[in-house]
Amino acid sequence: MCGIVAYLGRRQAWPILIKGLQRLEYRGYDSAGVALLENNFLKVYKKKGKVEELVQSASLSDREGTQGIGHTRWATHGAPDDNNAHPHISQDRRLALVHNGIIENYALLKKALEKEGHYFSGETDTEVLVHFIEEIQNRDDLSLEEAVRIALTRVTGAYAIVVMDRNEPGKLVAARKASPLVIGLGDGEYFLASDATPIIEYTNRVIYLNDEEIAVVTLADGPQVRTMNNEEQTPFIQVLDMEIEQLEKGGFDHFMLKEIYEQPGTIADCMRGRLNVEQGWVRLGGLDDYLNRVVQARRIIIAACGTSWHSALIGEYLIEDLARIPVEVEYASELRYRNPIISEEDVVIAISQSGETADTLAAIELAREKGALVYGIVNVVGSSIARLTHCGSYIHAGPEIGVASTKAFTGQVTLLALMALTLAHRRGTITESYFRRLVLELSEIPQKVAKVLESNAKIEYIAGEIKDRSNALYLGRGYNFPVALEGALKLKEISYIHAEGYPAAEMKHGPIALIDENMPVIVIATNKSAYDKIVSNIQEVKARKGMVVAVVVEGDEVISGMADYVIEIPNTEEPFTPLLSVIPLQLLSYHIALMRGCNVDQPRNLAKSVTVE
Ligand code: GLU
Repeated sequence: MCGIVAYLGRRQAWPILIKGLQRLEYRGYDSAGVALLENNFLKVYKKKGKVEELVQSASLSDREGTQGIGHTRWATHGAPDDNNAHPHISQDRRLALVHNGIIENYALLKKALEKEGHYFSGETDTEVLVHFIEEIQNRDDLSLEEAVRIALTRVTGAYAIVVMDRNEPGKLVAARKASPLVIGLGDGEYFLASDATPIIEYTNRVIYLNDEEIAVVTLADGPQVRTMNNEEQTPFIQVLDMEIEQLEKGGFDHFMLKEIYEQPGTIADCMRGRLNVEQGWVRLGGLDDYLNRVVQARRIIIAACGTSWHSALIGEYLIEDLARIPVEVEYASELRYRNPIISEEDVVIAISQSGETADTLAAIELAREKGALVYGIVNVVGSSIARLTHCGSYIHAGPEIGVASTKAFTGQVTLLALMALTLAHRRGTITESYFRRLVLELSEIPQKVAKVLESNAKIEYIAGEIKDRSNALYLGRGYNFPVALEGALKLKEISYIHAEGYPAAEMKHGPIALIDENMPVIVIATNKSAYDKIVSNIQEVKARKGMVVAVVVEGDEVISGMADYVIEIPNTEEPFTPLLSVIPLQLLSYHIALMRGCNVDQPRNLAKSVTVE
């Protein structure tokens, strides 16, 4: 959370920083700020709210300078107001700093600094950090990088920071621990950012800073990277394969809608080269070297958060159903803090869109300590999880900018389906003919998703019937139970309507008490295996005057005759139903949120890449 961007070069920094902040706004949008350095003079601009408000508020100021740092905030410590906005400035106004993360021992440091005469204008942990660096720097007359290094060895928590010193123009100092930071290498100019999206239009040559590394970037020498122990490192320069169009809305009103519509393509990209229908094989390159260990695993534990946790649940159903390996799904945060039993015989799968989710990273560290093999499923190439796991596969969904995840979810489920098929084939737990049928069916999912998208107008109409309700219930069975959870989460996240997802059979154990004529119930009723039971659940809702919206398989006449509204999806093999049934629920939330006047791409209080625990 929080987006950091910085520039050092010969061009004017302001427009580059502002554009970069706009690209990073999905990471946080409580406030935004920029500091520019010109002629040994620091100029700071900060504003509560979106980057656009910062632009307006600074429109009459002088914004000259060829060096600067910028920040868009997702507040952890202190209210989201002008004062707590970053960059933060040291007491002597010599240093300016932006920070992503949490300095956990900030309270102790603050007390000690106050005793030394430091005065703090706000409540953030970040302001304490910049004063702390100043104190160390001034006490021994140190260079900026040395002061930063010593300060960071004394703080606990997570950070990505960029600092500049008005007495050392032409230099930026950056460091990271558990929060991401990328350095872009231009032609005589340098860019730093929380991810590559602000950098890609200037250069595709980047260095991903590793944990506990400090980079000193100067115009004269470019980036020099050292560890916290001051050992020189040879940074690895990566050439990114990302197009600027992927970061634009491409004619859609919102990123979320664009990303929903991209799914036929992104699911196909996830499968590309990994499955062959004619020859009947499935192969995950990232698994090859470790396949025996996974095939023989005593147990698989899948750790994830939010939407990724829902795809993990579908992974549990897929792997247990097809490959017959016991699977447990854990919230990454709980796994870490509940003293779990994990051994060398276990395999841990970590799922995260950004590859930076702090709770998931912590769970991976724990799993590695206990000797388990860790496999990562992530979207963002080069991210921390991709580097910390023993092996893994990318979902290749391309940049997901909308805060509510859509194409990353279907990418994760596709990847888990490929994995379940690989394991099942190798373990011989399904027949060759069923395996081939599943491979064929999976290959046809992209065109079936495209078919579901054709129902958009109908779904928009149904959204109009739900938009003024205060609650909603989502029900599903088997493979569709996690889809019910995901549908409810999507609605909560972007429309602020309270929604619950439940296994359909659980309704009678509690939620049925809530049902009356004001309660819309969205039933995912595509399961062949429990069809009659779902029909009974719908009858139970109707008997209590609830409004039923049912997602059914094309041609279903029984439920169509009972539900208030039906949305049809094409027929598929049951294990792959989630890839189709989730699409109408994504569109439904999108339209409801839009009709309620909500900010679809940047819902309140949320941010995309959750780099704090
Ligand atoms: N802790 C800092 C603040 O509240 C940074 C927050 C973050 O990175 O999410 O301003």
